[in-house]
Amino acid sequence: MRVLVISDIHGNLTALQAVLEDAAQFNYEEVWCLGDTVGYGPEPNGCITLVRQLKAACVVGNHDWAAIERMDIEDFNAEARRAVLWTRQELSPESLAWLSELPSTPIVKGEFTLTHGSPRDPVWEYVLYPSTARANFDAFSTPFCLVGHTHVPALHVWVESETSVRAISPTPNRVLALRPAEKADGAAPSLRIILNPGSVGQPRDNDPRAAYAILNTKEATWLPRRVAYAIEITQAHMRSAGLPERLINRLSFGW
Ligand code: ZN
Repeated sequence: MRVLVISDIHGNLTALQAVLEDAAQFNYEEVWCLGDTVGYGPEPNGCITLVRQLKAACVVGNHDWAAIERMDIEDFNAEARRAVLWTRQELSPESLAWLSELPSTPIVKGEFTLTHGSPRDPVWEYVLYPSTARANFDAFSTPFCLVGHTHVPALHVWVESETSVRAISPTPNRVLALRPAEKADGAAPSLRIILNPGSVGQPRDNDPRAAYAILNTKEATWLPRRVAYAIEITQAHMRSAGLPERLINRLSFGW
């Protein structure tokens, strides 16, 4: 099965539409969404409507929780707080109802565990470093775990016979095999991976293009993708909504 994996849309409808247009060529059969559908961006309701139309399997993110007042926004920086408060007053009753039903615990889909932050701390922890990744392999039982939250495309690979975890920054458009090739004697090292598709609506790896991935569950392959979108349209919407200038500018730089 081919799966479109998206995360951290953050109310950026123009970016989400560009991703869907680009992903159509892969004939995906399911959509998995790793949270933070809203927050920061100017079109939270539009993004929720589209994600619902896609019948995506979706988990909740910290910004989704903040938007429905299920999380204290004390820990958010001033601009993120302003964006949360704007999002709260913008959300329709239907959007609020949808957000409040999203699961805050990981979803398991065959060999894949889906969560926003990390399997041991689904809404808040960032898997940015191999040491954090290593600690999290004990918190899920499938071979693979999909996370978002950092807005940085990455793979953390753990060969179970070894102590350390390896971090990989994937090259866009280069297919990665998630299972090691078998040796002549049929033996293959046992491998587990935490994968992050990056962010649709607010990338933070110095590449402003929208990020997503196509997962082939049968062949166990991961195709990281980047798509250019009309950033200036999102920025114009943010300006007319009165959202903070720094949040508007960062979209131009992917940071
Ligand atoms: Zn996010």
